[in-house]
Amino acid sequence: MPGKFSPATIKTMYLKTEGLILRQTDYKDRDRLLTVLSRDYGKMTLKARGVRAKNSKLSSTCQLLTYGEFTLTDYQGYHVITEAEPKQMFYGLRNNLELLSLGSYFAQVVEVVSQEDSPDPALLSLILNALYALSQQSRPQKLVKAAFELRIACLAGYEPNLMGCPVCGDPSPNRFNVSKGCLQCKDCGGEVFDGIRMPVSLGTLAAMRYIVDCPAKRLFAFTLPEAALEELNAVTEAYLCTQFERGFYTLDFYKSLLLQ
Ligand SMILES: [Zn+2]
Repeated sequence: MPGKFSPATIKTMYLKTEGLILRQTDYKDRDRLLTVLSRDYGKMTLKARGVRAKNSKLSSTCQLLTYGEFTLTDYQGYHVITEAEPKQMFYGLRNNLELLSLGSYFAQVVEVVSQEDSPDPALLSLILNALYALSQQSRPQKLVKAAFELRIACLAGYEPNLMGCPVCGDPSPNRFNVSKGCLQCKDCGGEVFDGIRMPVSLGTLAAMRYIVDCPAKRLFAFTLPEAALEELNAVTEAYLCTQFERGFYTLDFYKSLLLQ
């Protein structure tokens, strides 16, 4: 009968959404708090009760970098998970520490960019596609990392100006200013060029233009020789950290693995 809800009915008013687990924090003895980028509600904090107990039916889905469908109920100010079903586990990341740590870096950047109560389909697609590429090992790690970094900078509102040198108009200058987010020639000076500049070869510049403009589905569909890929990586990483004015501990950890 409309308008007549018993207390039991109110208690079982569930919310269902799909989302990617960006971070997990152990809580109390057996619980875990999950930071999730959900498809419908943007960034959310979900509580997985009893997830660290041996027979928990939530434990397979409620782990870092899993994309799942979550059924939620509100309890004591928390969104509590009552059911969880995995949609994509990215198995290729689970037994490879290097890939897992790079995926964790992607997740930390997404956590910084995403907002509560603000669904962001482009952001969710970007990280799901990036994790999938890493997991399948279908594209070089450095290519996925560089493309992710520059594309997410654009989504966050820091799209660089790659038209040409703002002073002389040269269409293919050999420096990129990561502080100003624009190209510059080696010898062109002026106030506009304060800040940190880094070398960019023609190949790197072409890749940057591609990453900024290509359709989302084609983001990783380019190739670069190893040397240019190194250069591109250095530029996109410095650009992201400079524009966001911060570092990422997950990035530091990933890079420490590469040195070993
Ligand atoms: Zn110039």
